[in-house]
Amino acid sequence: MTQTLLFTILLFAAAICEGQRGNITNESFPHPSLELRVPCQPSPVRIQGETTLYYELHLTNRSAQAIRLHKIEVLSPPNVLSVYQPDALRNRLSMTDHRSDTSEVISLVPDRPAILYVELVLKGKPLPSELNHRISYAVNSPTGLQNGAMQGGVVKPETHAPLILGPPLRGGPWAAVYNPFWKRGHRRVLYSKNGTERIPGRFAIDFIKLNKDGQQTVGDQDSIVHWYGYDQPVLAVADGTISSVRNDFSESVTLSKHPAYPAESATGNYISLQIAPDRYVFYEHLKPGGIQVKPGQMVKKGTVIARVGFTGQTTGPHLHLHVADNDSPLGAEGVPFVFDHFRLLGEYEDFTTFGKSRWQPPSPQQNTDIHQERPGPNQVIQFN
Ligand SMILES: [Zn+2]
Repeated sequence: MTQTLLFTILLFAAAICEGQRGNITNESFPHPSLELRVPCQPSPVRIQGETTLYYELHLTNRSAQAIRLHKIEVLSPPNVLSVYQPDALRNRLSMTDHRSDTSEVISLVPDRPAILYVELVLKGKPLPSELNHRISYAVNSPTGLQNGAMQGGVVKPETHAPLILGPPLRGGPWAAVYNPFWKRGHRRVLYSKNGTERIPGRFAIDFIKLNKDGQQTVGDQDSIVHWYGYDQPVLAVADGTISSVRNDFSESVTLSKHPAYPAESATGNYISLQIAPDRYVFYEHLKPGGIQVKPGQMVKKGTVIARVGFTGQTTGPHLHLHVADNDSPLGAEGVPFVFDHFRLLGEYEDFTTFGKSRWQPPSPQQNTDIHQERPGPNQVIQFN
């Protein structure tokens, strides 16, 4: 008892985006010092007919000893919306102590921040007005391992609908390449700029053009002109004003000659198009000489503004697209968007077959005429 009282109780939640603070709830002893916060407000977006909330729960163990996680529940009191057991936590948590972890035990080591990446599918339930998190854990005590639970990380989801965009490219098939579970995918890469960590690519999609058999290239893959997507026109997704342009990258004509670039040059040639207050569409890896707009220029939805290219940090010609809350490729939070309309052609359930064989077609029950949704991970779509 005396030992457990020595643990500091520190639980707070802050939503920096909204300046919210969470409440403090103590459910049972022992109380490790675990900081919980959701720094960016959860954003709803529709994917495959389901409203899904994307956000990150940051957990920092301020105790002197490890905290073993049993499960993390996402709550919208009195409902439990999702339960993450160790297997799910292993796929969703970054920066835990994997050295000592078994399939049953996941530990938060002292003073090492961890992030739980949440994509919460609401399964027809209404958007919750508030989310809370219950952490079930065990810590060492003089009498052995003691179990406990605490709540924190209270946050209110964003209530307005995401931006609705027109097509960024013509026709198809285009593979919408992303997967929130990829450990080094856009959704999980944090950048620190001016002392603040952000995830600009939280909702980024890499568009790669395929032929009807699922191939990315005609002939030798090393030559960029052989890629179906190379030099395809890139379109303004909405009326707006060109906010910034970077156009000083040259292009290597082959993949094998392509140099590696640091994070600050990863974009290659890019355009940011402001389409609403605090909303900037980023088009990256554009072709040298293909950018047809200048900063300050107003453009109409559907205007050709650039060409798909092979500049910056990329493994082949494609269009990187994301929307952020500031005109900065790395110093901004990624915000959700949906496309007004696209046709679903299928998807790559097993991404190791990507570029080698054709995608799996939709099931007969699946809706393929999609309005105001984000493509699902690695779906293949056709724009108008
Ligand atoms: Zn990308």
